[in-house]
Amino acid sequence: MARYKDAVCRLCRREGTKLFLKGAKCFMEKCPVEKRNFAPGQHGKDRKAKIVGYGLQLREKQKAKRMYFAQEGQFRNYFEKAARAKGVTGEILLQQLERRLDSVVFRLGFAVARRQARQLVRHGHIAVNGRKVNIPSYQVSVGEEIAIRENSRKLVILEQAKEFASGQSSPTWLEIDRNAYKGKVLSLPRREDINLPVNEQLIVELYSK
Ligand code: SF4
Repeated sequence: MARYKDAVCRLCRREGTKLFLKGAKCFMEKCPVEKRNFAPGQHGKDRKAKIVGYGLQLREKQKAKRMYFAQEGQFRNYFEKAARAKGVTGEILLQQLERRLDSVVFRLGFAVARRQARQLVRHGHIAVNGRKVNIPSYQVSVGEEIAIRENSRKLVILEQAKEFASGQSSPTWLEIDRNAYKGKVLSLPRREDINLPVNEQLIVELYSK
């Protein structure tokens, strides 16, 4: 499946909720969800039917998938892995999304949004335990150290991200040293650590049909 390249704010408007894909703009009045909270497109304003059942389950899956920029096949793999693992399937599904390297880079405050974090990873600016890793979906493990590589520490976006992150709360499952451009995974994220406006149980129901 092709990666989504259109304006990301349309995704929030389609879901009717903020997915926080653009950093600081998401907290401002100019956020399109604040100004035009209806689906994009010519007939967006007319679509007012209440979503129930399958439609609701589908929307919850789309929200989670879009927040993490995961592709459909990849997202299903996360679910299948979670379903096979011991524990609460929905929670393990979200845990895998949260453990993606691009998401961790975002949570560490090295990027203002996951999409920007994804670019940092893709462009080779990130090291895990001292070795370059350029795979956004790489799953971090407890004890691993994630850092901005030495030659990349002068990037302007890092300063902007630092400023943005100073106004955000830090996740307790990560140890963060922004001045040293690094962080460490202290534990795996629990559901209460994953601040997501998603009902994961509905996603489990969707894939369990
Ligand atoms: Fe979504 Fe952020 Fe765009 Fe608002 S500004 S529509 S929250 S991506």
